[in-house]
Amino acid sequence: MKSLNFTYLLSILALVTLSRGKFIYSCKEKNTIALTFDDGPHYYTKEFVDYLIKKDVKATFFQLGRFHYPHGIDVKEYQDAMKKAHDHGIQIASHTFEHKISSDKSEFKKSLTKNDDFIEKATGDRPRYFRAPKGHCDSDCQEALDEWDYKLIQWDVDTNDWDLEGSGSAKQRVKDSIDILKKKFAEKRDNYLILMHETEEYTVREIVPWILDESGMKEKGYRFVTVAECLGDKNGMYRSHSSGSGSGSSHNDSGRCGPNYGSCPKSGECCSKYGYCGTTSEYCGSGCQSEFGKCNSKTTTTKKTSSTKKSSSTKKSSSTKKSSSTKKSSSTKKSSSTKKTTTKTTKKTTTKTTKTSSTKIATSTVSGRCGPNYGSCPKSGYCCSKYGYCGTSSDYCKSGCQPKYGLCK
Ligand SMILES: [Zn+2]
Repeated sequence: MKSLNFTYLLSILALVTLSRGKFIYSCKEKNTIALTFDDGPHYYTKEFVDYLIKKDVKATFFQLGRFHYPHGIDVKEYQDAMKKAHDHGIQIASHTFEHKISSDKSEFKKSLTKNDDFIEKATGDRPRYFRAPKGHCDSDCQEALDEWDYKLIQWDVDTNDWDLEGSGSAKQRVKDSIDILKKKFAEKRDNYLILMHETEEYTVREIVPWILDESGMKEKGYRFVTVAECLGDKNGMYRSHSSGSGSGSSHNDSGRCGPNYGSCPKSGECCSKYGYCGTTSEYCGSGCQSEFGKCNSKTTTTKKTSSTKKSSSTKKSSSTKKSSSTKKSSSTKKSSSTKKTTTKTTKKTTTKTTKTSSTKIATSTVSGRCGPNYGSCPKSGYCCSKYGYCGTSSDYCKSGCQPKYGLCK
């Protein structure tokens, strides 16, 4: 009886291990927090990247080519933001090309390759890290990813920031997400792998600033790092270029350097702590890996790290102008010196958000958003999803479609 129970237990354990073994739910390194953001690049990516750089914080973006409208693959401004993030050590990872995983293995592979091509074209690197849409990846999917050498990343803290409807208002959503975080942070765990979405204005402008400035985690010694780094795999974010597609890039003109890539090709170039060649202080300052390249003392020329040709943009249009005008409201400078209560601060910023949203009714064309705060989708044939995004796939047009703001054929 006893041994029967034991065998039974073992087989259950084996099953659990088999079906969940490939998922990575948590960080490994002590005192790390990996902030992760899905579903971009999108409307707020540029502003958000600039903000993270300013705060000197690393994070991980799980990005895709064609999901929320306007699509990442069509907007050069979004791609430029990806590149900037990548060059500053923010990790760019894959989230499929169209936010779905085909049950047909070869279709699945095609979509992954398409997205890796997109990310490589924008950033110069092919991602090795992957997150499944909504975290759904069955055992076939897990096996395939393992075979193709992708790291399948889940999370151990879900802020639910996507669930605006569940909270009723942006203000309440921010509060609810912060409450979740407060509870988790109180557990004083070794590390955190946190799920958020860079497509939400309040995530970019309120939830993340709260984490960085008000949660107290930094003061407790936690570092905000990429998923790769929190797993102790700092140099494993991307695939090496040795057999890479494209213009015969050898190590020496890849712009990469370090243990996996070798030295920078030109004298005067320094190898940054993230493994890129360059001559500015970002490369030559602290963290410079002098064994792979060393800067001249007084060079300040800006040098592009990767010589990959940029995609010519199809949809530049007015989006650059419009988004920068919205941007000004982003610099929500918190007066963190005075210790107000959180509720008060939240209230203040939310009022601001509402104001921004109302000006955006006219700009739904560029933001890809729709609904009560944004207006209708710009093009006929686009449906307004329950989450307030314009699109044409079943994600947008089936249950939850808001026909008042756009209706699919
Ligand atoms: Zn997603």
